[in-house]
Amino acid sequence: MSGWGCPHEIKGKCDKVGGDKDCEPGMKGCIMHGRFRFASPEKNAPESVVRRLRDADKEKKNGVD
Ligand code: SF4
Repeated sequence: MSGWGCPHEIKGKCDKVGGDKDCEPGMKGCIMHGRFRFASPEKNAPESVVRRLRDADKEKKNGVD
């Protein structure tokens, strides 16, 4: 039993990308894409995307919309 289950995973499919692709944590469209570093380089977002997400998270934390 795992400690975390993604709320977007339904029967092994990802509803964030339309529900027709298998759940592949870190893939483009995944809620973790750009927020974590993965061992597979193809799952890592370009640095510009990582920076944009990091800035958006900071603004959210500081209450800026
Ligand atoms: S690919 Fe990511 S967002 Fe989609 S179900 Fe898997 S963990 Fe969740």
